[in-house]
Amino acid sequence: MTKKVIVITGASSGIGEATAKLLASQGNQLVLGARREDRLKEISDNIKTAGGEAVYSVTDVTNLDSVKELAKTAMDAYGRIDVWMNNAGLMPQSVLSDGKVEDWNRMIDVNLKGVLYGINASLGIMREQQSGHYINTSSIAGHIVGPGSSVYSATKHGVLAISEGLRQEEAQAGSNVRVTTISPGAIATELTNSITDEAVRKGTEQFYNEYAISPERVAESIAFAVNLPADASINEIIVRPSKQVM
Ligand code: NDP
Repeated sequence: MTKKVIVITGASSGIGEATAKLLASQGNQLVLGARREDRLKEISDNIKTAGGEAVYSVTDVTNLDSVKELAKTAMDAYGRIDVWMNNAGLMPQSVLSDGKVEDWNRMIDVNLKGVLYGINASLGIMREQQSGHYINTSSIAGHIVGPGSSVYSATKHGVLAISEGLRQEEAQAGSNVRVTTISPGAIATELTNSITDEAVRKGTEQFYNEYAISPERVAESIAFAVNLPADASINEIIVRPSKQVM
């Protein structure tokens, strides 16, 4: 299999970290972005100790210049970008009547604008290469809405909309840029830490303790899409715990 240069945002924990480790173990060159430098350093050191290749750039996806710096890190280190995974996200759920405007803004900035900034920082490079692949992390919440999930669901529905629009535009342009949206169910990561409403966090943690599966399951699904020959494109993946109903 050909070695790919793979950029991942939100690579400092959870799904991003598991995906980085798996794809590095398959011989790809990883470029890790997130805000916590200590975690990024530890993960890239672990990848290198295991015989893989990785670099990182401290990245805040709410800042376009910072995301462009991540793209530059990839280009400086490896000279191309084959896969860009827009994965950074947070899930501070609450009912709208609680008016947690700050949480709404953070979700829109990270989950939605962060994806757009990732596309903006890398699409020109992929167009020039005439090849590339976006992996955008949506959620089951990108397909359904429930009480307390309006804004999170809106951002994740938005990720699906942006991804499908991008897919159509790139297919029309004949750029060989593929787009995959992955929508996980309950995955055991640090995501529930981002919930600021204590009652919601407790309830969600209870649910996750019972149902959540390893982020490696998501990583394996992403690797399958990445490793598919370039003339075929897996556009949507839903991966849930087998016993999760909704
Ligand atoms: P984690 O909390 O473990 O990971 C979230 C990642 O996003 C971290 O690496 C965090 O890094 C990064 N991040 C947060 N804010 C920013 C920012 N402003 N700039 C850059 N990076 C940021 O949770 P998951 O691994 O679960 O989440 C990954 C994605 O998966 C998210 O988009 C989430 O919505 C989605 N998802 C998760 C599900 C689950 O059940 N776990 C289910 C469905 C979707 P740092 O703090 O270092 O910046």
